[in-house]
Amino acid sequence: MLDIPTTRVDRSMGDIHPQGNPHYWLPPGNARILAREIAQRLGQLDPQGRAQYEKNLARFNQRVDAKEKEWAPLVQKLHGVKVATYHKSWTYASQWLGMEEIGYVEPKPGIPPDPQHLARLISVMKEDGAKLLLMENFYNRSVASLVAEKAGAKLLTLPTDVGAEPAIKDWFTLVDAVLKQLSTALCVLLPAWSV
Ligand SMILES: [Zn+2]
Repeated sequence: MLDIPTTRVDRSMGDIHPQGNPHYWLPPGNARILAREIAQRLGQLDPQGRAQYEKNLARFNQRVDAKEKEWAPLVQKLHGVKVATYHKSWTYASQWLGMEEIGYVEPKPGIPPDPQHLARLISVMKEDGAKLLLMENFYNRSVASLVAEKAGAKLLTLPTDVGAEPAIKDWFTLVDAVLKQLSTALCVLLPAWSV
């Protein structure tokens, strides 16, 4: 678990990640942990089905291994890409991909930004050359587009959940979509960047 608060958190601070950052399901390593936990729990609840759950878990892990090989060249290319994000929901994905998060539209998870915070973010994005602002489609698009425009960056709306788009039916198609959309955006933004 990342971003576990080191100080006492109460509601007056408005932080909606009081137990740490819950947006952990994108990296393959975490998907394997989640699948194992689910298979174990199902096996406890339904001992007769345990063998089947174990079999399904092994099949899932094989598919993750294969996908991870397929994604490897793209993952390598994303290393070192600087991004800003709306909510602190890309932390695990950024760590997996080696992307550098240089700032957030929300000053704290769940807290709306004030103009001073946005001005600071825009200047940091410009100074650091962050060309992408990542957000989910349910956040305030007008604030995010303004920040992206002023910082000379592109606002990229990405899916983070299965079902976010009709074609995203499982974890595999979710991660496929995220990586494809990142790579398409970077190909347009950075001439040297092509896969
Ligand atoms: Zn959150």
